Amino acid sequence: MKIVVLGSGSIVPTAERFGSGLLLEDWSVKIGVDPGPGYLEKLRGLGMSPKTIDTFFITHFHLDHVADLSPLLMMWAYDEQGMPSKNTRKLKLVGPQGLSRLVEIIASEAFPYLSKTMGCDRYTFVEEVEDGAHLQLEGIKAVAAKVEHFNGLAYRFETSRCSVVFSGDTLPDERLVKLAKGCDVLIHECSFPREKMVGKHTSEEQLARLAAEIRPRILVATHLYPVWRGLEERIEKAVSGLGLERVVIARDMTIIEI
Ligand SMILES: [Zn+2]
Ligand SMILES: [Zn+2]
Repeated sequence: MKIVVLGSGSIVPTAERFGSGLLLEDWSVKIGVDPGPGYLEKLRGLGMSPKTIDTFFITHFHLDHVADLSPLLMMWAYDEQGMPSKNTRKLKLVGPQGLSRLVEIIASEAFPYLSKTMGCDRYTFVEEVEDGAHLQLEGIKAVAAKVEHFNGLAYRFETSRCSVVFSGDTLPDERLVKLAKGCDVLIHECSFPREKMVGKHTSEEQLARLAAEIRPRILVATHLYPVWRGLEERIEKAVSGLGLERVVIARDMTIIEI
């Protein structure tokens, strides 16, 4: 599997990090997670059309995770030439309860032309999931777990070859630990250093405790706020005694192949 951390930061852009977003590629299966700000632009940088992505998963409705949902809804109506699309494949979105309403607000209330003239309501398929939901997609299985952050969900993605867990935003959460036990790759938020914690997020010390319980082969720290600048080695130091195969402090466009 190839994992691309398209967005490794917060809503505050820096040279290295902006927004949240992942791309998982396993053979012919492509999964998008959290179309945060800049998601479509990062895909463009890879020379990749969003239309090649089978399903988009959303962890929660904070702007650094869903800001590119509106342009995604709109561009789906066009083909590669910018002509009205004849592709009948639907834009498939999976996310927490309220996702249908969010799409409706964007496409029918905030920007009604998306539905009225572009037929967005006909080409979008939304699946709302709850804690413990299992989804069997082509070539990949997904499991959702509720986490402590707004309406947050974490996801575990499994293929026949490997398993990847993405925390989304969250406080350290036992439900996430249960979901992630024994996974190959744990991609976990590490928003703030311990002494500068704000909101329902995870620090480097908390991340180390979680990783000690979960014991992934590869740990990827992501969702770093700009306050981490110059302090990032503290994350590596915090987890250095755990004997993990690999620790990655994500930047935008970090690629992990497993
Ligand atoms: Zn959030
Ligand atoms: Zn966030």
